[in-house]
Amino acid sequence: MVRQMKRRQQVRRSLLLAAMLIFPLIYYYLSPYLIVEASARGIVNGSFIVFALLLVSGLIVGRGWCGWVCPAAGLQEACLAVQNKPARTGRLDWIKWGIWGVWIGVIAALAFAAGGYRVIDPLYPNGAWISIIEPAGFMIYYVVVGTIVWLSLVFGRRAFCHYGCWMAPFLIIGRQVRNRLKLPALHLQAKPAACAGCNICTRNCPMSLDVMQMVKSNALEDPECILCGTCVDACPKSAIAYRFSSIRVQV
Ligand code: SF4
Ligand code: SF4
Repeated sequence: MVRQMKRRQQVRRSLLLAAMLIFPLIYYYLSPYLIVEASARGIVNGSFIVFALLLVSGLIVGRGWCGWVCPAAGLQEACLAVQNKPARTGRLDWIKWGIWGVWIGVIAALAFAAGGYRVIDPLYPNGAWISIIEPAGFMIYYVVVGTIVWLSLVFGRRAFCHYGCWMAPFLIIGRQVRNRLKLPALHLQAKPAACAGCNICTRNCPMSLDVMQMVKSNALEDPECILCGTCVDACPKSAIAYRFSSIRVQV
């Protein structure tokens, strides 16, 4: 059982590493800038489509994207080797919502000014499936990568996920909609009586959540939980488990 759990985290880290390595190839599909440029021309581009899919995925697997396949997550988990202090959470998590709100407002305004969306072009702007096909394309890529790494190194574990990620709100909105509609989805379930209070889950949570307290109060549903399963696999008492069902939460 223990070996099976360790293997799950090895698979997860391998997926994140692979995503990190192919980031230059898929960068345009996650670009926060190209959706702005394309919207001003009435074009539904690749990142528009991906962000819509992230919203839908939030209905089923919450922030599983962040925990298992996001290239930015791979970068940040690589940073854990040199900076593993917990990031400050709580009110600071709202920073990303402020950035996201302005960004979405600009996109909507530009699309409105362009007369709405008239064209679907997933390969905008270079007509290629691969994002960066010339050296100049690496310039913006390196700025994005540098920002993600800098935030993690200065502010702690996955600070970019907490404060700056433009994709996280789509996933959180999907998750909140699911919770309100009580749709069946992947989530964590606690067994408070089994918890020994060792705090291993809190110490290892890559999102710096107070997992032990969440278990004790039987409230594991948190917008910042990325369903990485680190706590599930680290708990010596099996007090946390994955479940796929509808959940009752206060939203
Ligand atoms: S690792 Fe398990 S037993 Fe230890 S505090 Fe967390 S939930 Fe409780
Ligand atoms: S609470 Fe558990 S599943 Fe959620 S982010 Fe923390 S370690 Fe991962």
